[in-house]
Amino acid sequence: MADKTLTCKDCNMEFVFSEGEQAFYKEKGFENEPQRCPECRKAKKAQRRTGGGGGGGGFGGNSGNRNSGRGGFGGGNRW
Ligand SMILES: [Zn+2]
Repeated sequence: MADKTLTCKDCNMEFVFSEGEQAFYKEKGFENEPQRCPECRKAKKAQRRTGGGGGGGGFGGNSGNRNSGRGGFGGGNRW
């Protein structure tokens, strides 16, 4: 294995995907090479931490227990 030079998707800068990193990726079972340079990755991470939300995800409102007032129906919200 040797170092690879990849191009960052975000800033189009070339960066080195080093042997060590490649090994790390393999070990983790990642099949894809990194798309972004370390700088952009860092920026992204930092953004996530401060920015809170944005990309709506699996969590979200509506967690049941809305019809408690309605009576009549048995258990869950099946209908
Ligand atoms: Zn970049």
